[in-house]
Amino acid sequence: MGHCIFCKIASGQIPSTIVHDEGGIVAFRDLNPQAPTHVLIIPSQHIGSLNETEDALLLGRLMLAARAIAEKEGIAKDGYRIVNNCGASGGQTVAHFHLHLLGGRPMSWPPG
Ligand code: 5GP
Ligand code: ZN
Repeated sequence: MGHCIFCKIASGQIPSTIVHDEGGIVAFRDLNPQAPTHVLIIPSQHIGSLNETEDALLLGRLMLAARAIAEKEGIAKDGYRIVNNCGASGGQTVAHFHLHLLGGRPMSWPPG
């Protein structure tokens, strides 16, 4: 996916602050953070959205990576939020599957 910004981040073509890179999963800090900790967790291989994969093992590993990063970031005990925006109405703006890991402040509900 030559035009995909998250593919370029995963391959190092676009600089980012990488916090995790292991077993085909890359995590980096969001450019426009919405919380003191805001990390994006992606598969290094291109998947457009949750609608485009049946890979349960990879999806589970992405969740566990998010949990491990929450622990490493020191937000696990207080709690955190994991978000996946899927498609236009879900608020997805980058068409490469990603989990948002947000923490370091209390979260409100419902989301906007
Ligand atoms: P979405 O709206 O698709 O769920 O989330 C996309 C996220 O990617 C947004 O939070 C946005 O700030 C972040 N983002 C967009 N472009 C870049 C970039 O080039 N680098 C980084 N680190 N984050 C980006
Ligand atoms: Zn991509």
